[in-house]
Amino acid sequence: MEEALKKQLQEKFGKGIKEAEKEEIYQALLCIVKDRVKDIPHNQGKKKLYYISAEFLIGKLLSNHLINLGLFDETRQVLAAYGHDLGEIEEAEPEPSLGNGGLGRLAACFLDSIATLGLQGDGIGLNYHEGLFLQQFADHKQVEEKNPWITREGWLIKTDRHFKVPFKDFTLTSTMYDIDVTGYNSGRNKLHLFDLDTVDESIIQSGITFDKRDISKNLTLFLYPDDSDEAGHLLRIYQQYFMVSNGAQLILEEAVERGADLLHLDEYVCIQINDTHPTMVIPELIRLLMEKGMNEDEAISVVRRTCAYTNHTILAEALEKWPVSYLEKVVPHLLPIIRSLDKRVKEEFEDQRVAIIDKEDRVHMAHIDIHYGFAVNGVAALHTKILKESELRPFYEIYPEKFNNKTNGITFRRWLTHCNYKLASYLEEQIGPAYLQDSAELKKLLEYRRDPQVLARIREIKKEAKIQLKNYLKETQGLEIDENSVYDIQIKRLHEYKRQQMNALYGIYKYLEIKKGNLPKRPITMIFGAKAAPAYTIAKDIIHLILCLQELTAADPQVSPYLKIVMVENYNVTKAEKLIPACDISEQISLASKEASGTGNMKFMLNGAVTLGTEDGANVEIHQLVGDKNIYIFGEKSENIIKLYETGEYSSRKLYDTDPQIKELVDFLAGEELSAIGDPENLNRLYEEIRNKDWFMALLDLKDYISTKERMLDDFQKEEEWAEKMLVNIAQAGFFSSDRTIREYNRDIWHL
Ligand SMILES: *Cc1c(COP(=O)(O)O)cnc(C)c1O
Repeated sequence: MEEALKKQLQEKFGKGIKEAEKEEIYQALLCIVKDRVKDIPHNQGKKKLYYISAEFLIGKLLSNHLINLGLFDETRQVLAAYGHDLGEIEEAEPEPSLGNGGLGRLAACFLDSIATLGLQGDGIGLNYHEGLFLQQFADHKQVEEKNPWITREGWLIKTDRHFKVPFKDFTLTSTMYDIDVTGYNSGRNKLHLFDLDTVDESIIQSGITFDKRDISKNLTLFLYPDDSDEAGHLLRIYQQYFMVSNGAQLILEEAVERGADLLHLDEYVCIQINDTHPTMVIPELIRLLMEKGMNEDEAISVVRRTCAYTNHTILAEALEKWPVSYLEKVVPHLLPIIRSLDKRVKEEFEDQRVAIIDKEDRVHMAHIDIHYGFAVNGVAALHTKILKESELRPFYEIYPEKFNNKTNGITFRRWLTHCNYKLASYLEEQIGPAYLQDSAELKKLLEYRRDPQVLARIREIKKEAKIQLKNYLKETQGLEIDENSVYDIQIKRLHEYKRQQMNALYGIYKYLEIKKGNLPKRPITMIFGAKAAPAYTIAKDIIHLILCLQELTAADPQVSPYLKIVMVENYNVTKAEKLIPACDISEQISLASKEASGTGNMKFMLNGAVTLGTEDGANVEIHQLVGDKNIYIFGEKSENIIKLYETGEYSSRKLYDTDPQIKELVDFLAGEELSAIGDPENLNRLYEEIRNKDWFMALLDLKDYISTKERMLDDFQKEEEWAEKMLVNIAQAGFFSSDRTIREYNRDIWHL
């Protein structure tokens, strides 16, 4: 590496390693790594997987490739010898902002594991030029800005593959871009991102608003643009169809290249549909196969053996239902097929609940996937159980054999080796490197659960990460935090079901306690990071609340030594990689039954944080693995929550009216301390929402949450015991490697 780097820097910039700027070193490394990646053979085989997803939240790629190529240690050492730090060099790399949150990050972890296991499987998605959005804070509010990430030199490679994609009134020609996906000590796959040459950034007016009419100029500008009006919905349909039509054409071309007889496409191809966004791939494939001469029965039968669907949510508003009239406006040529699929279902099943087109003429995308795919999976044990028993019960009764669970996972290359190099190296010293290939090996660490030396070292590594985070927040946002405080972190998309508002109410509780003179034994730093969807008013109000609390606590000299509340701007993969290793308390507090799995919970556990959570999603499995002593569980159970929704019995107003403690905390939202800092309109709206509606029942669990967190903070003081909890969490995290998840997908669904 040293020689290659010297040569590159000399050729490109006429400099040696010592004098080179960070940006120059990054450029040189980019070149070297891209070159090495090219030499890695592509994974091969008769059958190929395509993972179609509207999102791939891949994060920065330099270190990822270095780790996978076995060059990470060497590169770090070479740079260090010349006074550089790889972490700082990486600052020069822009993070592709091609996802919202968990679902997109999962797709990225899966690509890593698919390649690592030597399986032939490519990703298919869209090349959004401005990504999601860049979040900034102004006047204690979220402001959205565009987030350009594509640079002249980067990982994105333009190919000469083009497809014609027909819409109602025009046809667009696509260009395919590729990003190489490397596996750990293994072969190579591709992420294919489709795009249009005609996209025009100059139509962006201010922030993220743009002219939604000219599709050829705006199709791949943003990920999920504002969908608060019809033009926004139509643009989403344009995007989805563009993605799947390109994908379907590519899949068929490649299958033919591999010698496929299309009547046996399922022997050559498996398509994993990541949530409902790519659902139109089913009618599109049927359409293309019929164009090639198949009759409809044959085409349906082939597609049904080829496609599998992953469900990611039971939130009703997230299950896509497109009005037939919208589809007519964008893809009228798919409607005869969709109607025919619907007719076949209605002929066989009377039950309206399983219909594809409902009485209001809306197309239920998930229903297409379930009827016309061969597998349906949930993403954690509890989630799959809820799908079978309530949410998708009528489907489960028809197709019990299709349903299966695949508990999510994370790639340890990024979420341990890269983000917490010190911990990774120490684990390797203690239990050997085998855990990087076989994550179950992490359990060997349990032998040391009472070893004072090991526990001391684990605590020391945590402390170093906390200092690093402190420095990072100081440099990037001017925030002052105390490394001797307990770091309590909630980072994830902002949504009422994830209940950041409940955590904020805890912040108010603690603030009031301190004002009363009840000081915590150890200072507390509450850290939030979250983007809110641009049109999601209440989510933005919650951000406003947190930012007001940040100022309130910082400005009060009586409070700030004991309690800091801070919000990290523009939470993304890069920030996650810095926050997670430093965390003591991992907040996983969704309303039970609402978080399908969560993957943030797994990243924290692997890095030695202890979970404060509800029995929801994969928290349930974490609980089983670590046992009662090493996790803090609170709140109402999912069965009861589901019943409460059925009976409509829950009333936040009743809790507010009858419980003076709850009333005091909620009233604070509309009180003068906060309105002196923030915008009364936002604060009052949130106050009314929580008091009178509270759809995700934050007040229901609030008191149990507060007392459990207090108990947890007390336990944090028992340092030896706490360190043992950390160790047990790390040791039991092996199950959550995405390598395990992908082995299961392949064993049960893909059969590559
Ligand atoms: C892991 C991850 C998520 C998912 O977090 P959850 O807590 O599971 O919702 C979201 N965003 C980023 C940037 C992540 O890395």
